[in-house]
Amino acid sequence: MAEGERPVRIALISDIHGNLEALEAVLADVSRFACDQVHCLGDLVGYGADPEICIERVREIASHCLLGNHDAVAAGIDVDDGFNLVAREAIRWTRDALSEASLVYLKNLPYRYETEDLLFAHAHPFVLKAWPYVLPGDTLGSIFGESTQRCIAVGHTHVPGVGNENRSFFVPVVEGTLEMAAGGRYLFNPGSVGQPRDGNPRASWGLLDRAASTFELRRVPYDVARAREKILAAGLPGFLAERLTGGV
Ligand code: ZN
Repeated sequence: MAEGERPVRIALISDIHGNLEALEAVLADVSRFACDQVHCLGDLVGYGADPEICIERVREIASHCLLGNHDAVAAGIDVDDGFNLVAREAIRWTRDALSEASLVYLKNLPYRYETEDLLFAHAHPFVLKAWPYVLPGDTLGSIFGESTQRCIAVGHTHVPGVGNENRSFFVPVVEGTLEMAAGGRYLFNPGSVGQPRDGNPRASWGLLDRAASTFELRRVPYDVARAREKILAAGLPGFLAERLTGGV
């Protein structure tokens, strides 16, 4: 689309975590919807066996990509002190698996994307370096209070959902389309492409349509067995393979 034009249909993808099988399945689904832009909310790498090729695919397809906490550690922006042992082992493996070009790419990713009516970040959009989870009834109110945009999107929790301005009112979206109320403001979490944790193993992404005022949460089946095999063949912790089966 031409520069300066307002994107109408935006595909939101997040938390790919080096899972190529899930990413390809999601991109195939995205391609059915004539999206003006694909935005990646970060965490391209960490956990999965294909970090390098996932970065290459996102670079090809996404008009915008944000920095995630795993990307930050892989790129050497953050240290892995806050990671549990499994995440730490995986990110060290990941760092060694990445090309210099991909490390530089990660290092230069921005923390936040903002326009007049869009505000996107990997985690809390105003607490950038501590990466707090944005959870129902928790930080939601403060995020709406500190911002003016109508549509906010974050990832990081690997659990899809929709929050609105009433901080006590949080609608988890299992699957399906939400129609935005006139004048309503929303926070969308499109869930995780490569490591869903809501008990649904299918890859997750979100379609924001500003002309129709809708947000559709989509779930896409992918070759979990192959993604698992690659994790084990790479010598990554077995738990990272296991959890993909149940989406936990
Ligand atoms: Zn993540």
